[in-house]
Amino acid sequence: MLLQRLKEYADWRMELPPVLYNEAPVRYIIELDGNGRLLSPRPTDTADPSNPKTKRGQRRLVPQIQRTADIKPLLLADKADYTLGLGGEGAKPERVKQCHAAYLDLLSRCAEQTQAPEVAAVLRFLQETPAEQLELTDDFNYGELITFRVHDRFVVDLPAVQSFWAALNAPADDVATVMQCIVCGRQRPVLDRLQGKIKGVPGGQTSGTAIISANAEAFESYGLEASLIAPTCADCGEHFTKAANHLLSDQSSRIILGGSAFIFWTRDDVGFDLLTFMNDPQPEAVRALLESPRSGKQSAEVDDTAFYATTLSGSGARVVVRDWIDTTVGVVQTNLRWWFAWQRIVGQSGEEPKPLGLFPLAVATVREAKDIVPTTPRTLLRTALTGAPLPWGLLFQAVRRNRAEQKVTPQRAALIKLVFASRQSGQQEDCMVHLDPANDNPAYRCGRLLAVLEDIQRVAIPGAKATIVDRFFGTASSAPASVFGRLMRGAQPHLSKLERDNPNAYYALQRRLEEVTTGLNSFPRTLTLEEQGLFSLGYYHQRAHQRAEAIAASARKKAAAAEAAPTNDDGSAQ
Ligand SMILES: [Zn+2]
Repeated sequence: MLLQRLKEYADWRMELPPVLYNEAPVRYIIELDGNGRLLSPRPTDTADPSNPKTKRGQRRLVPQIQRTADIKPLLLADKADYTLGLGGEGAKPERVKQCHAAYLDLLSRCAEQTQAPEVAAVLRFLQETPAEQLELTDDFNYGELITFRVHDRFVVDLPAVQSFWAALNAPADDVATVMQCIVCGRQRPVLDRLQGKIKGVPGGQTSGTAIISANAEAFESYGLEASLIAPTCADCGEHFTKAANHLLSDQSSRIILGGSAFIFWTRDDVGFDLLTFMNDPQPEAVRALLESPRSGKQSAEVDDTAFYATTLSGSGARVVVRDWIDTTVGVVQTNLRWWFAWQRIVGQSGEEPKPLGLFPLAVATVREAKDIVPTTPRTLLRTALTGAPLPWGLLFQAVRRNRAEQKVTPQRAALIKLVFASRQSGQQEDCMVHLDPANDNPAYRCGRLLAVLEDIQRVAIPGAKATIVDRFFGTASSAPASVFGRLMRGAQPHLSKLERDNPNAYYALQRRLEEVTTGLNSFPRTLTLEEQGLFSLGYYHQRAHQRAEAIAASARKKAAAAEAAPTNDDGSAQ
């Protein structure tokens, strides 16, 4: 299950920071000698205003713990109020005093337990009116972290200090509930609240979200509070939280789209690049994937490597786990092959099909990216990874966009084909990629017919401002009978004009018109959702076919003209 796999990831594939340490920007370093005397009255400022990455100081691993309204010092790396007893503007003097006292108390316990001379040096310095010894510049920022270096050694990096911090925050055996940890299965003291937070989940609060949390009363109804609902020991809790944060922050293992974060990983690193397949699939890579079962290059070891993916979305302070996929690289690759085969459709001028990533498919269902509903990318990704059929709801959204925009974009045509193909078992890989002249489904034929009528209008009146498609696509695709009679009659004057002015074009268009209408005895009154999808594909296919023919014809003309042109002796044109 998810938490166990995350913990494994942390154990096997991450170099973990010390327990309850995290990377954070540390702006100021106070430099001391072994006796706690300042080496320089001015703290070293590590911020580089010109570099947004270090605007708040250089990032270091420092003690971190969730801090609520209570006074809780961070060992040896805290803000000015805790560290020096200095509050910035608007600080309450009484509270600053308490914070500093708590910090000193923690530090003296640390000095006592670790017996580390460096800690003792910091304590000595802080006990002797540090504010008076320091020269703080006017732009000193009271809200940034301050840490200490004694003889060039960061005190927070001392192993003894790290162990002290870990032990300090470990749940005490006598007060914590002992239960079976759901991750490691051992009977251990379990946390009443997870200490680390998950960051970067859309919809969650910016300070982070707890992956297991039961703030809502509903979750407490079993008498289990907070994370006890899924009891984990401190060690497991920290590890899976770190793994989730690592995967969420790593561009190569996450996709953030439509209000959800998808994270995915493999048990071992086998170089399987899912991200590129989903974000920016390259034609060569997809071709190689489609051909891989025949080439048989991949080892069984890669095939059998475990693959995991999950979808997370935030809801206030909680992370909601939407999907959990536990499979193998080999299975995912097989499903991806289908995924790319299913979406293959000719380009809008007859070009080779181009593989599409998640985003263009998802955005094809809406007017603009911000309108993408969370379920859209989620279901698309799920189908890509598992081969599950796509819901009719996606076809509905695509068809609705076609009607609203009075056109079928290549992305929408691909999405419509994906929905159909994913729902047909045993369908042929090459079905519906190009125009299918043999398909006599009336809806498909009506779509083709609209494209032919559009072409007749375009050839007869080049540059017409509003075409019949601009005006009638919506009605033609949902209620053909109400509009096609009129469109057919409207085409007659255009055809007559062409017969007179451009007989070649006339014969070609007339032939095409006959071909498309043969067998189409009457126009359907209304089209169902599925039929509207077929209409869109018929229209799209026919149009791509016509454009490809027009491009080929003009290329032939050009080539013929070049051949006829007289050339010099060296073969160049005169
Ligand atoms: Zn555990």
